[in-house]
Amino acid sequence: MKVTFLGTGTSHGIPMLGCGCKVCTSPDPRNRRMRPSVLLQHDKQIIIDTCPDFRTQLIRHPIKRLDAVLFTHWHADHILGLDDLRPFNYWQSGAIPIYGNAQTLERIRKVFAYIFDPIPYEGAPNVRTQLIEGPFDVDGLAVEPLQVFHGKSEILGFKIGDFAYITDASFIPETTLAQVRNIGCLVLNALRYQPHPTHFNLEQSIQHIEKIQPGRAFLTHIAHQLDHQEVENTLPAHVRIAYDGLALEL
Ligand SMILES: [Zn+2]
Ligand SMILES: [Zn+2]
Ligand SMILES: [Zn+2]
Repeated sequence: MKVTFLGTGTSHGIPMLGCGCKVCTSPDPRNRRMRPSVLLQHDKQIIIDTCPDFRTQLIRHPIKRLDAVLFTHWHADHILGLDDLRPFNYWQSGAIPIYGNAQTLERIRKVFAYIFDPIPYEGAPNVRTQLIEGPFDVDGLAVEPLQVFHGKSEILGFKIGDFAYITDASFIPETTLAQVRNIGCLVLNALRYQPHPTHFNLEQSIQHIEKIQPGRAFLTHIAHQLDHQEVENTLPAHVRIAYDGLALEL
């Protein structure tokens, strides 16, 4: 499976509008981060989250077919690109399945009410909601949902084979830690140095990586307080900060 990081930034993206800090004005391209999303390519092509930068991301990483979208949760930085699924309806037949937990699908139905009208207008994307209640498969590709907490909200990470993707976590239950322990490749969120009420900071993220003991780990959902190279210099060799466009062959 190939994993491509389409975006690795926090909700504002980097540069953050109006900010002149050293990371937002950095010449290092790895410090330019779109909102968080990954593309998984095996026999199937799957996107995790349709962020507001979805269209730009897929211009950079063109695909002709999209088999499914998995949603971690409903926050704006993870869903607002949903309308840009429409071109795929042009290239492929049938509704595109979009997977999420009950709260995520309920919010998506509200935010994108026009998509779910009894007779949607002809410009609406053709999607089919798929409620995640346990392990499922996308045309034969097995996906295990991972229960994590984002502040008080219960959101989802995903485990596919030897790869796990967890973003926006501030607490990981023991049962989920057991599901991903010793996994080959882990993606985990690390926002900034300072603590945050609903996201792991860098220190908490590293502590969880130590507990999980993955073969290698990549940090995502990065805010502008973290300079790519500066942080990477302090990390153990098997832990890297992801950057937009980074592709892994698993
Ligand atoms: Zn987020
Ligand atoms: Zn900044
Ligand atoms: Zn969030």
